[in-house]
Amino acid sequence: MIQWYPGHMAKAFREMDEKLKFVDLVIVLLDARVPKSSFNPEVYRKFQNKKILYVLTKKDKADPVDTQKWCDYYSKDGNIAVSVNAKANDASKIVMKAVIKLMEEKRKKDALKGIRPKALKAMVVGIPNVGKSTLINNLAGKKIASVGDKPGVTKTQQWIKLNQDLELLDTPGVLWPKFENPEVGFNLALSGAIKDNILPLEDVLNYGIDLLKKKYPGSLQKRYEVSEEESDYLLKVGKAKKLYTNNEIDYNRICMLILNDLRNGYLGQITLDEF
Ligand code: GDP
Repeated sequence: MIQWYPGHMAKAFREMDEKLKFVDLVIVLLDARVPKSSFNPEVYRKFQNKKILYVLTKKDKADPVDTQKWCDYYSKDGNIAVSVNAKANDASKIVMKAVIKLMEEKRKKDALKGIRPKALKAMVVGIPNVGKSTLINNLAGKKIASVGDKPGVTKTQQWIKLNQDLELLDTPGVLWPKFENPEVGFNLALSGAIKDNILPLEDVLNYGIDLLKKKYPGSLQKRYEVSEEESDYLLKVGKAKKLYTNNEIDYNRICMLILNDLRNGYLGQITLDEF
């Protein structure tokens, strides 16, 4: 079992508990390319008394058919799931519309009790690199200066009033994934959610190549002009692309080439998690 954030866990949990008291809903970001691997059921159990809006980010890089399936999957128990390109103009509209829909019932109940509608309070949470800052900045329409996470600095809760309906906590909650099986670690490494030096790159890429051959046949061959029937695929790509260092085939360069191509979408729109 790999522990990525050992020391931070207890502290992050405590902070999350503190913040949860103040919010009406939680906006949980998942990476559309790894909508299962970027989800940690243990952490999300904490949110069971809150409404959850799942936002699958990076939909521009993910398989659209799979993204729809995962949105349907997460739209349950009264929660809603939408997908966005967090960098695109329409992201904030999609998220705002879903927030209003998610909170419709509460609003109606409040109205019956004579409670005047107040702006809803939300916090954005997700694993590193999932797009939290990008989405918050997009929603706010400007760069938000987050309060630093330095020890000893007293943090005050800062709310960003987005509009009359929604206020956001300015600092997103950083979650950690649950590495329940090796595939989760590999998928997160391939998507760029965890640092490249955490897992052996060749293992990550060999896993990725098998996955691509099976799930997206033809995508590797189209890019590298190396038949997918070939075994030792990394070696063959290295030779085809002449990735040598000091006359020796350079596996690190091969791995980084394929990894960057995958992450930049040159192998197509790809969802790594199996539904
Ligand atoms: P955070 O660590 O969760 O705050 O993630 P960031 O907001 O810093 O985003 C990490 C990287 O992913 C940045 O390079 C963003 O530009 C990129 N990114 C975030 N959301 C999207 C998206 O929906 N589509 C694409 N293509 N890139 C995204």
